[in-house]
Amino acid sequence: MGMKIYTKCPYCKAEISFWSWSKDKVELKMTQSDKIVLTCKKCHKINNCIVDDFRAKESKIAILVGVIVFAIGTPVLLVTLWDYIWLTGYYRVLALLTIILIPSTIYGIINKNDQRRVKLFNQS
Ligand SMILES: [Zn+2]
Repeated sequence: MGMKIYTKCPYCKAEISFWSWSKDKVELKMTQSDKIVLTCKKCHKINNCIVDDFRAKESKIAILVGVIVFAIGTPVLLVTLWDYIWLTGYYRVLALLTIILIPSTIYGIINKNDQRRVKLFNQS
C-alpha cells in the first residue's frame, strides 16, 4: 500500500508531502534517487528534498477505517447476535465476547499495522 511521506520546505518551513509506494527509505532511494525534486505548495519554490529527511506519519485513513469498522461492526454484531445474548450459559458469553472483541480486535490490528509502517519507514 502506498503512503504519504513528509518533509519540510527549507525556505518557508511548510510541510511538503510526497506519495510513495516504497516501504522504507532504502527502497525509495532505489526507485527515485537520494533527492526528490518537489515544489513547495506554499512558497512555490522548487526543492531538492533529501530522502533521509522524509518522515512517515500515522495515516488518517487507517484510523478512519478502524473507527468505521468499530462503529459499524459493533451494532451489526449486536443485532445479529441479539437472540444469543438472552440465552443462558456458554452461548451468551460467546455472543458477548464476539460483539466486544471482534470490532476492537480489527481496530487494533489496523492501528498496529499503521504504526508498524510508520516505524519501519522512519527507522530506515
Ligand atoms: Zn516553501
